[in-house]
Amino acid sequence: MTKGKVAIMHNKQESSFAAQKKLTALLQEADYIIDQNDPDIVVSIGGDGTFLSAFHEFEHKLDHVRFLGVHTGHLGFYTDWRDFELEELVSNLSNDENPPISYPLLDVQVKYHQQDEPQHFLALNEATIKRAIRTMVADVYIKDEIFERFRGDGLSVSTPTGSTAYNKSVGGAVLHPRINAFQLAEIASLNNRVFRTLGSPIIISDSEWLTIYLEESSDYLITIDRFTIQHDGIESISFKIADERVHFASYRHMHFWRRVKDSFIGEV
Ligand code: NAP
Repeated sequence: MTKGKVAIMHNKQESSFAAQKKLTALLQEADYIIDQNDPDIVVSIGGDGTFLSAFHEFEHKLDHVRFLGVHTGHLGFYTDWRDFELEELVSNLSNDENPPISYPLLDVQVKYHQQDEPQHFLALNEATIKRAIRTMVADVYIKDEIFERFRGDGLSVSTPTGSTAYNKSVGGAVLHPRINAFQLAEIASLNNRVFRTLGSPIIISDSEWLTIYLEESSDYLITIDRFTIQHDGIESISFKIADERVHFASYRHMHFWRRVKDSFIGEV
């Protein structure tokens, strides 16, 4: 009897190719079927960046797909296994008694001036909005109430698991991924006697939503994790915690703050 269908996604590093070959053989030996199109489990081999790509490849199947990350370098935030632990990984997967783990995602809705229907995106790390040529001017609304007028390079809206990525580089707080909330962080805001924003990141609850209204212009860049979108006629972008979540298989519990310390601080 088969144990389930597994898709393996990997980056172009030689070590990832080797790990993919070895893992395929181990999974087949353990009665798993390799199915790149309709899997129950998606294994990503590479880094957190590779995991982001694997997530987006299967984001339309989140209701029944579980993800698992193998890192071919250091441990990552989505990658709990190292490439020299593949035997243990397969045995752990076969007897998966780990508590089910899932984390929040960001629902991003882009509304256009000339279009009734908004476009929907899901972000695992974050979405950013920036203006390429001139200062971005945007009205930030929380729950349909004006909060501030932002002027600066752009805004970043991140998930808890994305809080250690771009968000951290722009001064956002690191959020424990069990917190069901999202975060708005400013990218180089203009703050003086005339222009004023809060100037610090804010954490927004799962019962609230955020809308950013933009001045009409054609030079906005929206990023969703690894991808960049450049569209004309964007009127506003809204953010909330998505109904969908990302589910993990064989998630190895590592103290979150220890992972943060290992990644950013090292030995004390
Ligand atoms: P990249 O520019 O090639 O690499 C970005 C780095 O961010 C990699 O070292 C990656 O780890 C790490 N990373 C990804 N997700 C993370 C997370 N949740 N927590 C901590 N570190 C994380 O870009 P990429 O590989 O395509 O990944 C896209 C992500 O990179 C974006 O979502 C954004 O968050 C981040 N990014 C950050 C900056 C910045 O900090 N200034 C600039 C651009 C993009 P691995 O080495 O394990 O893949």
